[in-house]
Amino acid sequence: MSRVFPPVATSSRQIAPLPHHQPQPQHQYQAQLAQGQSQQSNSSRWTPYAPNIIELYPGPKNRLFLSLRSGIGEEVDYALPKLVVASFNEIDKFKLETWVDSVSALKEWPEKWIEGLELEVASQELRKSRRQSSSQSKLLRQQDTNGATDDDIQAPRELALSVVPEWTLPQSTIDRATNSLLVLRNASFTNTNAKIICRTSFLEFLIRFFSLPTSYLLEVSLRTPEPIHHILNILQSIFPFLVPNHANDPRIQRIFNVVLPELLIHTRDQAMIQNILPLLISNLSISNNHNLFPYSTLQELISHLLNLIVLRPTSPPVILDLSLDLLISLTQNTNYCKQILLSPEFSAHLKSLLALLDYDARQTQATWENPQHLTGKVIRNPAGEFVRNENSQKRRKLQRELNQRQMEIYGGPGVRVEVGEKAPALSKQIQERLYAMREPTRSIAWMHEIFIYSSTSQLLQVTFWHAYRDFFQNPSTIDPLLSASEVIKNVTVAFPGAMAKVWTDEMGGQKFVIAGMGFRKGSDDQERFTCLWQNCPSPHSPTDPKSLLAHIQATHLTTSQPPLRCQWADCTQMPFTLSHLLTHLPSSHPTPVPEVITSHPSTPDVQISQSSVTSRLVPPLARPFKLHFAATTTPTESTQGQGRIPVGTALLTCLILRNLAKTLKAELNLLDVDLIREKESQKKKNALEERFGLPIPENVLKEEEKEEQDELNDKLRNQFNQQDEIQNRERLNKARNAFVSAQERLREVVEQNISGLAGYLGESLGW
Ligand SMILES: [Zn+2]
Ligand SMILES: [Zn+2]
Repeated sequence: MSRVFPPVATSSRQIAPLPHHQPQPQHQYQAQLAQGQSQQSNSSRWTPYAPNIIELYPGPKNRLFLSLRSGIGEEVDYALPKLVVASFNEIDKFKLETWVDSVSALKEWPEKWIEGLELEVASQELRKSRRQSSSQSKLLRQQDTNGATDDDIQAPRELALSVVPEWTLPQSTIDRATNSLLVLRNASFTNTNAKIICRTSFLEFLIRFFSLPTSYLLEVSLRTPEPIHHILNILQSIFPFLVPNHANDPRIQRIFNVVLPELLIHTRDQAMIQNILPLLISNLSISNNHNLFPYSTLQELISHLLNLIVLRPTSPPVILDLSLDLLISLTQNTNYCKQILLSPEFSAHLKSLLALLDYDARQTQATWENPQHLTGKVIRNPAGEFVRNENSQKRRKLQRELNQRQMEIYGGPGVRVEVGEKAPALSKQIQERLYAMREPTRSIAWMHEIFIYSSTSQLLQVTFWHAYRDFFQNPSTIDPLLSASEVIKNVTVAFPGAMAKVWTDEMGGQKFVIAGMGFRKGSDDQERFTCLWQNCPSPHSPTDPKSLLAHIQATHLTTSQPPLRCQWADCTQMPFTLSHLLTHLPSSHPTPVPEVITSHPSTPDVQISQSSVTSRLVPPLARPFKLHFAATTTPTESTQGQGRIPVGTALLTCLILRNLAKTLKAELNLLDVDLIREKESQKKKNALEERFGLPIPENVLKEEEKEEQDELNDKLRNQFNQQDEIQNRERLNKARNAFVSAQERLREVVEQNISGLAGYLGESLGW
């Protein structure tokens, strides 16, 4: 059976769920329930007490209410159980206004019960005073040796008091009162019924009940807890209608400001605590002007609550959350908040609050996946080794083809370039690529890397062979070495302008040589310093940044006027400056760069290898890029459109910390009187400015001024009427220190909690 409860208070803040939502089973079928009957079956279960429709008919002649009012025990005991079941099962039909004077009929037995309670209190009082007087008289007698006269006076009084009866309530009265209250409690869950209960003389009953001594109420709550819980539930239900109309009734105020707090402080009954806490929270949140706890009650209440939150209850943490909720309500009031801050144990309380920030927290591995629209395309880095090698390979091919046409054998003027003494060192990547190839492609590709055309060069065949053998004698190769003659045969495939031949020197000695090609000068590493200036006559001569710069200055910047535009590769920078030129020069040691990078999807491929980078879109994250980090989560609730917001114990704790920090900061500033005055006048000035020069009636202005003056006076009085202002100041500073030492822990929560607690902790930081 599900049941909708009316809101306890009109507070905008959701308070913890109402306890006592379990239906109160009657004694008669309690046993059935204990046997494990589920809640669902309750609604449909047949009970001999279920009233038929005729029994609930409206009007003054309703059988059940007539019986209830009859005063005849049997009749009452026939009617009450039926009303209990009806009020529970027929929540929609059970309207108190249907039956004439229904509330006073239901109030009859509770009133008899309360009369009995009052008599019991009176007899207890008498007994107590008799005990006191008799012990006093005993004392007197011991002191006074001539005690005869005292005994004469004492004797008749004791005689009179001895006739005071031991007052006990008949069980039937308690049962009937309990059932009547249960009917009212069930009925009060609908708003119309709650309104009616609030309007009738039932309030007088409540006032009468809560006028009993608190210690006695506690005693009754242990002896017969049921009726008290019903009364507290009724009070919760009627609260929204009670306070607006009776806020100024000092007797109602006393219930909320004195009786309930005292009951809360002294009861050790969990159900009582759960019933009283929502009432105090509602009361604090509904209006700020009528709740004024007596000073000592407030002190006790605060320290009691701060002790309650140290308890670690089983889940769900109803009492913990309700206590925190009440603390939030209390700390919203500056004066109450200050009481907490001034407490000598504040730093201990702060520590227990900090511990609650981790309540129900879980360690989690958070993964951040970049959203689809932020996904770029993965490309090879133009500055990476692979692309550089590819480019130099292309460059070499172009150079080779150009030189081939210039060789004498093809009718050209011949190629005159410097050649190296030995084979150039290849980069690791090129080496690996060659090792992985098969013959004959392998030896041809190798020759393209190692040799260049040169008309004047003659390479000994044995040198050529050794270079080949040395390079491919490596365990990483997949093909065996070719024979010397086979490799030399391939020379004319790789370099058609060169040829193997026998050369006869002046002495007549014969040498087997390869004519028309020689070792490429420099190494792959040095190739980074190739001059890319347009139409450079000797691009490969520089071997380091210094020689490259010297080369450019000596070869390309010879005129007195520097060129208008930069002519490095396809750079178009204008004007050309020396500092700009330096940006083209590679550093002496290659910077390690990733081989694969991300480019914006809209960047065309041709643009990627271009040296002008400034017009490219910002490269987004790559598709497979994921962020992982360890984080803490506390309970959250997802709301429409707003994402997830934190809830539960940890959030409640944050709110208390925020209130405490806010008040403490304000209090620390307020210690300076001049500052208050300045602020007040500033506030006044701002308020005046906010009126946009509209005419304001004189009396309104005067009233406002008076209010402001009163407020200021209050503040000043608060401050200076403190008997021990110095002590307060010390304690506030102590509270500040407590926050300072809590800062690291708070920052940790801000950093690690991904459930949104950080948004509520800002004000607790920065001391
Ligand atoms: Zn150059
Ligand atoms: Zn440039």
